[in-house]
Amino acid sequence: MYDLVIKNCLVNDAVTDIAVANGKIAAIGSISDAATETFDASGMAALPPFYNTHTHAAMTLLRSCAEDMELFDWLSNHIWPIEAKLTEEDIYIGTRMATIEMIRSGTVYFNDSYWMPQSGLRAVRESGMRATLGLLYLCNPSGDVPDAARIANEALLEAHNAQDVLINVAHAPHAIYTVSEDILRNIASMMERDGFQCHIHAAETAKEVEDCRKEHNGMTPIEYLDSVGLVNERTMLAHCVHLTDHDREIIARRGAFIAHNPVSNLKLCSGVFDFERAKAAGCRVTLGTDGTSSNNSLSMLDEMKFAALSAKLTANSPRAGRVTDVFRIATAGGCAFAGADAGSIEAGKAADIMLIDLKHPVLCAGYDLISDLVYAGEPDMIDSLICDGKFLMKNRIIPGEAEIIAAARKVCAKLRTLS
Ligand SMILES: [Zn+2]
Repeated sequence: MYDLVIKNCLVNDAVTDIAVANGKIAAIGSISDAATETFDASGMAALPPFYNTHTHAAMTLLRSCAEDMELFDWLSNHIWPIEAKLTEEDIYIGTRMATIEMIRSGTVYFNDSYWMPQSGLRAVRESGMRATLGLLYLCNPSGDVPDAARIANEALLEAHNAQDVLINVAHAPHAIYTVSEDILRNIASMMERDGFQCHIHAAETAKEVEDCRKEHNGMTPIEYLDSVGLVNERTMLAHCVHLTDHDREIIARRGAFIAHNPVSNLKLCSGVFDFERAKAAGCRVTLGTDGTSSNNSLSMLDEMKFAALSAKLTANSPRAGRVTDVFRIATAGGCAFAGADAGSIEAGKAADIMLIDLKHPVLCAGYDLISDLVYAGEPDMIDSLICDGKFLMKNRIIPGEAEIIAAARKVCAKLRTLS
């Protein structure tokens, strides 16, 4: 008896059935055994879904609030003052709103760094998605832990100890320029004890590299983070736009992950990540959108296109940023950090499945589905989305969507009057 049988869908060029049991793909082939639920996927293709490895999900509430600025001006004078007014409930609703947008565009996992992660945790659990929730450290040079951080830490510890396969937790120091060396070293030693992951912005701008070299004996941000023990196989380094060959060698040797955020980097004019060099160096590259104030979309479909185009521009070659590589970093690359044994539609893998409607007008030529998704992908191509064997969206319906949008509209209206 299976939990779910998906009938008549295209898997690797053959129309077949997929059986799901206990959150895993139990079998692929002609399946006639009984199932709790049968889903007719005629005219659809099954593909691995997306794993978004760098987000600030609740920033859906701040989308378009400040545009066309340099990163430090944008953060200090616009974003942080509004964020200081957000309540725990606001952040829950903003994150829930983000889960709707991500599910619609085929994402089953996000690696989040934001204030009051206990609110993010509540939203993620309701959505059924996978996530890494980060305990944020920011502008706290005294080393004191404020009460709000203690509450968040307790919620995350509870989630960590519950061993929920969908939830990971991370220490999320914002960046080397907003968190002191003592705290970074403390986080590295905590990671050894608590088994959390680490999520940090690193080498995002030329200014960050310049300041780091001045303050830390000529070291680059990656060399500095490595010197404090924070570059390891549980670390997600977001951006990595400005890397030296030595930085790439450190990241590859330590087995750390890079979250490539091409749209945010272009929008904030931070620079362009060298995808082909990182790949050649053996770095574990993944794909993220960053928050909706610096993107302004959470769609990994858009992000893949920019990853492909920026890789070609950087390498000055149309052979760079190949569609298969870009699709891989958006899927299998990210699920390695998510701790999900997924990233392909195969028996034995976790049942994370995206069902694409092949009747969509953009898909009628039918030469190469992956290429069509990377270069012309739209969220309404995605009919259904399954995470850990359960539907997050079925025939384009997400449970509770209308209520969540209504609640988010109210919060946004309130925030606009406060700013
Ligand atoms: Zn970010």
